[in-house]
Formats: sequence, structure tokens, C-alpha cells
Amino acid sequence: MSGGSEVERLIDLMAKLPGLGPVSARRAVLALIRKKSLLMSPLATAMAEVEATVRECAICGNITSHQFCDICRNPKRDQSILCVVESVADLWAMERAAAFKGRYFVLGGVLSALDGVTPESLRIPLLVEQVLDGEISEVILALNATMDGQTTAHYIADQLGPDVQTTSLAQGVPMGGELNYLDDGTITAALHARKAF
Ligand SMILES: [Zn+2]
Repeated sequence: MSGGSEVERLIDLMAKLPGLGPVSARRAVLALIRKKSLLMSPLATAMAEVEATVRECAICGNITSHQFCDICRNPKRDQSILCVVESVADLWAMERAAAFKGRYFVLGGVLSALDGVTPESLRIPLLVEQVLDGEISEVILALNATMDGQTTAHYIADQLGPDVQTTSLAQGVPMGGELNYLDDGTITAALHARKAF
């Protein structure tokens, strides 16, 4: 099944991508070779361009090719609401839902005494500075519902002080979710977050 060392090297590299194992990587590389001009050339060009220009947005930490990302540069985004997320993937997930019109702050992780993740390494001092210096009326702490995520949310809320309104995403039954299939923690959270019908 050897396709020559260069092709094998490409397959090995592709197999390192999330969601692609050796079998899917082989299939993807074959598709690229078959569609050399339609797919492989534009992909190679796009990759080289992104590789040369990609960086972190100086304001929010999103991925961008410019100093500031499209969201931070968009005057239509509400400057008064800031949504704090753990990762760029979380930011993209929020954007996919197209329900949030404010701006973001990407922490790049969560506090963890075990892994030596400190407030400084997560740029929390910068976040506090941005909020206290800016015209921000609400900070949404959209961190993952894990122990570390919640510890981080509490820490940030403490740092921001009582004058800044901090909120968190509701936890509970997902859309299309059936109670029968939910874990105990989700049911408990949903019960606590119940609202008037
Ligand atoms: Zn940005």
C-alpha cells in the first residue's frame, strides 16, 4: 500500500489532525491527489497563507490574520457585553449559534493548581483591566461546566468586584433532550435553574 515516501509523509501528517485516523487520512490524501488542481493546490496555497499570517487578536485572543479580529473590528458588535470563553473553539461555537452580539475574551484555558495554570498565564489581569477601563456593563462567564471551569468563573467574578454585573450560561436540559437520557448532574442543574412557565 506504499504510495512513495512523500505521499506517506503527507498521510502521516494528516493522520495527526483531530477527527482523522490513519484510514481517513489515507482517504483524504487520495481525494486530494485525484482533485489536484481543484482541491490540493488551493488548499496548499490557503495553508501557506494562513501559516504566514495567523496570530492572536490583540484584544480578545481569537484567531485572526490581522492585529484585531473581525469581531473586535465590527462596529455593530455591542461593546458593552463581554463573553468570556475558555477556547477559540468555544468562541466559534457561540458564533455558530449567532445568538450573541457582544464581544469575547478568550482565556486560553482554565485555572488549574494541578497543571500549574495561573491567572497570569490566562491573561486574567488583562481581562480585569479591559472590563474596568471599558464601558462594559455585563460580563458573561461562558466557561465549561467542569470543576476547573467553575473555579475560574468564581475567581474572575471575585477579581471584577461587585460593581460589574457577571452572569453565567444556564445549565440544564439541552434542546431535544429527553430526561431519561440525562445524567444526574444535568438534571440537578436544570432543576435549580427552573423558571416560570
Ligand atoms: Zn478580537
